[in-house]
Amino acid sequence: MAGGAARELEAILDAAVDPFIACDADERILHVNAATERLLGWDREQLLGRPVTDLFPPRLHRFHGLSLPRYLLSRRKVLGGRPTRVFARRRDGVELLVELTAGATGVDSQERIVLTMRRLHEVIDSLEEPVEHVPGTPDQTAHHEETVDRLYRLVVENAPLGIFHFDRAPIVTACNDRFAHLIGTSKRNLVGLNLFTLSDERIIACVRESLAGHNCDYEGDYRALTTSKVTPVRVRFAPCYAEDGTVEGGVGIVEDITDRRRVEAEREENLAQLDLLFRGAPVGIGFLDANLRYVRVNETLARINGIPAEAHTGHTLPELLGEPGALAERGPRQVLRTGEPMVNKEATSDEDLRIPGPRRYFLGNYYPVRTPDGRVLGVGVLVEDITERKRAEEERAHLYREAQEAIRVRDDFLSIASHELKTPLTPLSLRLATLERRLERGENLDPSVLRHARHQLTRLTGLINDLLDASRIEAGRLALHPEATRFDLLVEHTLASMEGQKGNHAFEFETPPEPISVQGDAYRLEQVVSNLLENALKYSPDGGTIRVRLSLSEDVAVLSVTDPGIGIPEDQQQQLFDRYFRARNASTRSYGGLGLGLYISRDIVERHGGRIWVESEAGRGSTFYVALPTLSAERPALPLAWPDRHLH
Ligand code: ADP
Repeated sequence: MAGGAARELEAILDAAVDPFIACDADERILHVNAATERLLGWDREQLLGRPVTDLFPPRLHRFHGLSLPRYLLSRRKVLGGRPTRVFARRRDGVELLVELTAGATGVDSQERIVLTMRRLHEVIDSLEEPVEHVPGTPDQTAHHEETVDRLYRLVVENAPLGIFHFDRAPIVTACNDRFAHLIGTSKRNLVGLNLFTLSDERIIACVRESLAGHNCDYEGDYRALTTSKVTPVRVRFAPCYAEDGTVEGGVGIVEDITDRRRVEAEREENLAQLDLLFRGAPVGIGFLDANLRYVRVNETLARINGIPAEAHTGHTLPELLGEPGALAERGPRQVLRTGEPMVNKEATSDEDLRIPGPRRYFLGNYYPVRTPDGRVLGVGVLVEDITERKRAEEERAHLYREAQEAIRVRDDFLSIASHELKTPLTPLSLRLATLERRLERGENLDPSVLRHARHQLTRLTGLINDLLDASRIEAGRLALHPEATRFDLLVEHTLASMEGQKGNHAFEFETPPEPISVQGDAYRLEQVVSNLLENALKYSPDGGTIRVRLSLSEDVAVLSVTDPGIGIPEDQQQQLFDRYFRARNASTRSYGGLGLGLYISRDIVERHGGRIWVESEAGRGSTFYVALPTLSAERPALPLAWPDRHLH
């Protein structure tokens, strides 16, 4: 063919609307026109010489033992010029539904096969074989197209989505009612709208994208043109292709996502609330996965573990806490093994978990966390630090024991006190009866009877005074009247006043030659000394010598009273100076007493800036010491070096 004629023919073919392909007898491409280039996305130079089957999906390359072009040629007579439906393959792999017709000229090596195709815009997922056109009259074809068109309209109009089409300008060419409703205006106002005049840059960007042949998603709040009503929408923009494969416009599919947004917002709010609850819970909460690695913990659990919350993620308890972690992991491990929850498991920090430092108490609850189908995902952990609660419980128990003890002491005291008060009354009333009888009979009165009666009265007065003093001390109302007092003379005087009571005992008094003066209440100090002497006599039932020694050590006067009596068990020595306390050594029956003398003495001595203590051994006698600052002492310099346990 002469060059000029060939170029003219090429120009004619390029002007044709439908794609056109010519091949040689080996089905290799000799020529394609411009419409083919546009539809399939190839440049013609790239196609020349390639097998024509490259333009079709591999599954359609051979049919009934023939290549696709040969098969189509073999069907020519039957089809009588009608096309066959197949998928063509674009260069980018996208498959397009096309109608294909095949023709041939020449013979043998001169044979030329000519294929013409037409793009179809029907939606067909796949086509496994060439589908020949159903023969029909032109009328029927028109009717079929009309039906398809009507169906499309129905689908578009009833879709629960807004749908609009725009051309390349991009002017809206068609839309459904739903879209008009969403935009808040009429269809008539919308058709003709230039999308580039919209104010939302992102929408314009999506329109451009779709016109460039790409899908594009937009999500945002659309403000209606007329009502200003804001609707959250999602729009999918997609290109629309013309029959020649060029983009002729696009469609937008609009979804009103108000409900979805609301559900999402609600879900987010619920999650936020749960999160707040989780984080702020005063109970430690954590979740361990099936490998017992922490997935998440709240602040309280982080505090209990002493490790920041975020540092837990992905780690096991032993990794985080060492040996205590391994011990604490036993609970969750058991839950994982048995699938059974473990509730109210108490553990102490020191004994159960071997954590050094002051004891803390924990209450653990572990339970399996399952998927709806029952698979165990991991272990939920609830841990509470119940140290405070435990301490309060212990304190309550302690107070309860103390209260019980106080009640017991009171009951004991009442029985002792009534016994003690009654003891002098019987001999007193006997003596008085004797006196009465003698007086009636006009007999001589024996002064010893009166002396004995007076002795009983003194004893009774002493007991009552002790009771009164004890209650004054409790109320902080025991008055002292301190003045410069010769302590050595005071002790001597007290010893002398007790001569009548000493019975089989002997007193031995040792005092330095120089006078010892203290600033004190002479009456109360005498009460202290006589109490020590009375006890020494009382608790040395077999007589013996009571040694009283006064010494001066620096600015401190120290009085000691030593008896050879029953002594005091070591474990009771501290309590001797408590109110109502009577040591085990002194059975109530054998040794009368209210357990108040030393209590009163301690208060008096301490309020003089002094100390009182005891050294004793059961069965080997006792020594009571009283140390008082002397008058010359600028400030009390009491012997601090003396054993603490004796200081009261
Ligand atoms: P009481 O009236 O019982 O003697 P005190 O307060 O004087 O009360 O003494 C308290 C307790 O101390 C006595 O009940 C006794 O058990 C013990 N006690 C006091 N002095 C002596 C002592 N010299 N020898 C042995 N025990 C003593």
